[in-house]
Amino acid sequence: MTDIAVTLADKRGTLPTDDKLGFGKIFTDHMFVMDYASDKGWHDARIIPYGDFNISPAAMVLHYGQAIFEGMKAFRTEDNRVVMYRPVDHLNRFNNSADILSIPQMDVDVVHTALKKLIELDKHWVPKALGTSLYIRPFVISVDPYVGVKVASQYTLFIILSPVGAYYASGFKPVKIKVEDHYVRAVKGGLGEAKTAANYAASLKAGEVAKKDGYTQVLWLDALEQKYIEEVGTMNIFFKIDDEIITPELNGSILNGMTRRSVLAVAKDWGMKATERRISIEEVYEAHANGHLQEVFGSGTAAVISPVGELCWKGKKISINNGAIGETSHKLFDYITSLQQGRVADKFGWVEEVTKL
Ligand SMILES: *Cc1c(COP(=O)(O)O)cnc(C)c1O
Repeated sequence: MTDIAVTLADKRGTLPTDDKLGFGKIFTDHMFVMDYASDKGWHDARIIPYGDFNISPAAMVLHYGQAIFEGMKAFRTEDNRVVMYRPVDHLNRFNNSADILSIPQMDVDVVHTALKKLIELDKHWVPKALGTSLYIRPFVISVDPYVGVKVASQYTLFIILSPVGAYYASGFKPVKIKVEDHYVRAVKGGLGEAKTAANYAASLKAGEVAKKDGYTQVLWLDALEQKYIEEVGTMNIFFKIDDEIITPELNGSILNGMTRRSVLAVAKDWGMKATERRISIEEVYEAHANGHLQEVFGSGTAAVISPVGELCWKGKKISINNGAIGETSHKLFDYITSLQQGRVADKFGWVEEVTKL
């Protein structure tokens, strides 16, 4: 096992009160860093004080965008333990993103060990209130100082930690989503299955247009025919039709969401029919017209479950469940958040204890 050198911060910060947390603006005292060079492999694993770092203006990531990331969470339980949710599954997905972007594979054990060590060191930054968490952001960038196009030969991996407030600070509320019929996010054979910066860059314009029209996010359709449903871009999507929950199958252009996986497993465990298959936007609108569409909800690490109250496709608006939160959306949200915070028994083996406070 690689040794992880630790340089402690001179001064430790303090965790702000819950109402000041927000999302992704506050960072803990330390970060994990590891370098890659083609002749050395991944090396120099270290925990250092959180802070700015130097790269060359020619660093390849700034020009060609070879960058991947993960997003996962740690929680403080009622009995003051710090736990992480499905960390190894997240790190395996990180390696899948690395593969898609031609970034060298990481040793999951090394990164997992480093992450536990980092959280242990910054454990007083894990907030306690219901719904709050420590957001974990691992990422890799290419850093060769070179403005020619090639697969890079030098990379840096970082893990930074950010205490975040409750996503639904003002209550668990349905969102309005625009079904995107002009822009596309990702195409089969492209980067859609990777958690990479480029997919977000590709989604910003459509998001901006949708926000002007009063929608929180867009629901992407397939890039070839704009017919089949893909995902929301920060969330996967589920439809409850005739008591069955349906989510688009993984087809290479959709992210294999961890919350998506959790939802499918939990719903099946409850004896519900949970199906991954191709589903068109027309089918969803038809199900609504015939009174069979019961619920629509998104799934992702940040919100966990995000009920959808309205869809708008080519100017046609439909109200889902009269804009109210559906029963299954609510049950899934309560169950998964309780599991993550150690309030219900972890029968799936998804929760890993990091340390005690
Ligand atoms: C991260 C992400 C999701 C949600 O995945 P989770 O693992 O559940 O957080 C969905 N779509 C895209 C494009 C994402 O980057």
